[in-house]
Amino acid sequence: MYAQVIVDIVHENVDKPYTYRIPEGMDIQVGHRVHVPFGRQEKEGIVLAVSEECTLDPDKVRSVVRPMEPYPAVLPENVRLAQWMAQENHCPLAETLRLMIPSELRRKTVRVRYHKMVALTVSREAALEAAQAERSRNRAHILRFLCDGVPHSMEELRALVSEPYEALRQLETRQLIRIWQEELLRTPGQALHAGREEEPELTEEQTEVLARLLPAMESGKGHFLLYGVTGSGKTEVFIRLVRACLAQGRTAVILVPEIALTPQMVDWFRARFGSVAAVLHSGLSPGEKYDEWRRIRLGQARVVIGARSAVFAPVENAGLYIVDEEHESTYFSDRHPRYDAREIAIWRAKESGGITVFSSATPSILSFAKARRQVYELLEMPHRVGNRPMPEVQLVDMRKELQSGNRSMFSRPLQSALAACIGSGHQAMLLMNHRGYYSFVSCRNCGTTIKCPNCDVSMTYHLVRGDGKLHCHYCGNVMPVPAACPDCGSNKIRYFGSGTQKVEDELAKMFPGLRAGRMDLDTTAGKDGHARILEDFRQGRTQVLVGTQMIAKGLDFPQVTLVGVLAADMSLHIPDYRAQEKTFQLLTQVAGRAGRGQEPGKVIVQTYEPDNPVLQLAARQDYRAFFVQELERRRIALYPPYTAMARLLVESRDPMIARRGAEGLYARCESLLQAHPEYAECRILMHLEQPVMGFLRGKERWQVLMKLRIRPQLDGFVASVSAMAQEGLEAADVYFEYNPSTMM
Ligand code: ADP
Ligand code: ZN
Ligand code: ZN
Repeated sequence: MYAQVIVDIVHENVDKPYTYRIPEGMDIQVGHRVHVPFGRQEKEGIVLAVSEECTLDPDKVRSVVRPMEPYPAVLPENVRLAQWMAQENHCPLAETLRLMIPSELRRKTVRVRYHKMVALTVSREAALEAAQAERSRNRAHILRFLCDGVPHSMEELRALVSEPYEALRQLETRQLIRIWQEELLRTPGQALHAGREEEPELTEEQTEVLARLLPAMESGKGHFLLYGVTGSGKTEVFIRLVRACLAQGRTAVILVPEIALTPQMVDWFRARFGSVAAVLHSGLSPGEKYDEWRRIRLGQARVVIGARSAVFAPVENAGLYIVDEEHESTYFSDRHPRYDAREIAIWRAKESGGITVFSSATPSILSFAKARRQVYELLEMPHRVGNRPMPEVQLVDMRKELQSGNRSMFSRPLQSALAACIGSGHQAMLLMNHRGYYSFVSCRNCGTTIKCPNCDVSMTYHLVRGDGKLHCHYCGNVMPVPAACPDCGSNKIRYFGSGTQKVEDELAKMFPGLRAGRMDLDTTAGKDGHARILEDFRQGRTQVLVGTQMIAKGLDFPQVTLVGVLAADMSLHIPDYRAQEKTFQLLTQVAGRAGRGQEPGKVIVQTYEPDNPVLQLAARQDYRAFFVQELERRRIALYPPYTAMARLLVESRDPMIARRGAEGLYARCESLLQAHPEYAECRILMHLEQPVMGFLRGKERWQVLMKLRIRPQLDGFVASVSAMAQEGLEAADVYFEYNPSTMM
């Protein structure tokens, strides 16, 4: 037998399968990880195909050294997925295959730990009888303990009787029990308990939606977009769907934007499904991650919850892929090989005969447009559970606040609403979408803003244990505040703008004794950073939660009756055609955190542009009106989904190399368009420029930005440009990004 093996080296020259002989008696199948000789080294590889014939001279074919696991690590389905992705991305197969294996596993043989398991070999009655007749107390104890009919670990028996070994040995020789070795898998997180949670009765809307989804899952076909307002009970729909999916003997995958920010979703699933659910997240230790992965691979865990990369989980026979909060940009991976987890979910669901359900209270413009074109089936839940009202949103004009002499960052309406909320024993959330204390530091004399020496972006003032320093949010650089302006030498250094730290500070001054928590990248760095802050808030140990957009996502705290948005305008003006969409989503999502319990919710949005139509629609939480308006704007301005955006990005430490490299690529694109008149039809715009962040992490950046008409020949053009990027440049990094998640 022979195996076709892709060796784990990412390079065009070796981007082809190599043939190896499978030694007699070695079990090798498609997807097996194997060690193979490669040149003078031994390399890791993945088996693409197994065949009886070999077109090469059999004497020249070398042999597989050994398999790395007893079973194929990559499912055949995922081997095909990697092949499809490599084609789509125009990249080596070795690169996409890497996505199918947790990085913890690569190039490492993880030490497998075993433990001893014990179970009865006789019936319960026979065991009880034997226990009755037993002279030794230990042996009787063990027999009775094992009567529950499930295998138990040696650790459990040691907890039962202090020296179980002799007793076990005897019971084994009498063939009452059997003892065997099993791989020890750690199941991380809280203790598992299944089926204890009470099941609420479904609302009418939930029932209707399920009546559409369940038959589709039976027949194994359909892509759905579930548009349900915040608090409409989407999670309960997921739980019922997953239950039905398991009952069909199939598996399910649930993607969430970020595990740490969705602890409730995980808790709910754990409570209902126990250890049948596996949770994949970045907080797991390598060993834990490997174990969860193996529990999935071996079919012990049949529900997988995880962030983006969980879409590659080795589940077999999946009947259901759910993408919760589908509008989140985290589903899109910018790193090579680039992918959109939503597209992968659709591909895999088709492959395994399952359905996909994308869900959001603020679907992405692209997904909603697809639903309108019936690419996805649209399902709606327009009301909150229990007919709770949507929160009332008030826009507060901060210019008027200034005119009337209020210089604080809290408007008077927000101050009194906060006082009332806390006074009545409820909780509040305050959104400030910038971390740190002051957002920038500049010179009053000449106007210079202090920028990071590695990046062309202004530095943020942070207070760390009372010590003020300047931080760069892009490269992590930290430096002291200069005593004098680096440009003019003046000592008139002043602080402007504000971040979450300042909100927390001002809050403490305004409400002495108030207990507030803060959630941003700075406070959640530790292993359980998120969990602690959220738990304090849930338990009422903190009354107010201040945070960045992290607090806007999917949290369900029934005691929250007030949400304050301190600077709503901030995200409106980022240089990206999606700024309006992002702002609308952020405001609607954060507003949706209010009034989820018995008490109605109130939302106060502070802005300098109260007439801005995006803010007005967000205040009314009118997604459909926003969608119509935004789609029309994009149609006129020629933005996706009507066109495609792409860029070739060049980065280099040497400014001249970066610039020249981009110029060269621009010229090559021009000649490509000239040589192919059909490609030229796709061109709306193509120009050479420095992106907004022209200097980042010590590298000079230039780009060829393209806006393209969607025509059948676009694929060919994109493939050619992508190939240019693959070739690379001397002393520079080149990236090709198709519909990039950021243009900055
Ligand atoms: P969404 O994700 O749509 O914003 P959730 O799934 O978080 O909403 O549900 C909102 C709240 O309503 C949760 O506290 C949930 O436990 C509760 N809930 C969901 N469905 C029901 C139901 N059928 N009956 C009662 N409460 C429900
Ligand atoms: Zn100056
Ligand atoms: Zn920097």
